[in-house]
Amino acid sequence: MNLGLKDKTALVLGASRGLGAAIASGLAAEGATVFAAARSVEKTEAWAHALPQGTGVVSPIPLDLGDLRSVDDLADRLLAKGGVDIVINNTGGPPPASAVEASRADWLIQFETMAANLFHLTGRLLPPMRARRWGRIITLTSSGVEQPIPRLALSNGIRSAIVGWSKTLADEVAADGVTVNVLLPGRIHTQRVDELDASAAKRSERSPADIAAASAASIPVGRYGRPDEFADVAVFLASERASYITGSKIRVDGGAIRGI
Ligand code: NAD
Repeated sequence: MNLGLKDKTALVLGASRGLGAAIASGLAAEGATVFAAARSVEKTEAWAHALPQGTGVVSPIPLDLGDLRSVDDLADRLLAKGGVDIVINNTGGPPPASAVEASRADWLIQFETMAANLFHLTGRLLPPMRARRWGRIITLTSSGVEQPIPRLALSNGIRSAIVGWSKTLADEVAADGVTVNVLLPGRIHTQRVDELDASAAKRSERSPADIAAASAASIPVGRYGRPDEFADVAVFLASERASYITGSKIRVDGGAIRGI
């Protein structure tokens, strides 16, 4: 299937590792020109240099989503080049906190970094897409927006707000050829997931391997997802072929969410 990504330009946020890096690599493998944004340009360079020859170009670009000036600098740089066709909104995950524990300051700081600055950046990058009558906005959230995850109140709450924003935006720009969707990762095996398993192991005095095995056993597919499996869905959604999918929430969770 020709995904029609060879002449497209993409911005991928949070691309120094994990799901962001996997999506950026996947888009480049389809020939897209990718701006891979993260706080550490060096970390992004490390994986980008290891990509096979013949793929699209990946350019690391600095971004701190917690800093509005950095967000605006990125928008200015991209708009000066004519903007991008595809935006993959991805952020770091918030710290664990129960709904009882999370403070007002926690909510404000995390909302600014994970949601408000991301809404602002998307808003700045939309005009050239609408003018060209082609665009893709894809935002990573979590299975927690459908099945809230215990002790992840900040993630469950803020990401549910992101779903509301995405759906509203989808309606506003659909007639301009811009699709807007959210992805719901279940448990995809990245460094962050290893770190979360290690901290759960510490709390429960079990080994990280035990925690991971129990967690995998709770997923119908019986294992964690691979970043490339997750990235394939994002790349398809970003493609020409996904032109009639908008305003949707798409699960990539091996069946982990129990409701339908
Ligand atoms: P990760 O921690 O490995 O990657 C997050 C990326 O965001 C990194 O590149 C990091 O450098 C970047 N980042 C963090 N703070 C930033 C900031 N202030 N400015 C710019 N970039 C910043 O996480 P991941 O496993 O790749 O997951 C990506 C997102 O999806 C996270 O928000 C995570 O909470 C969410 N998620 C992941 C899973 C999973 O199974 N992996 C499940 C549900 C939700």
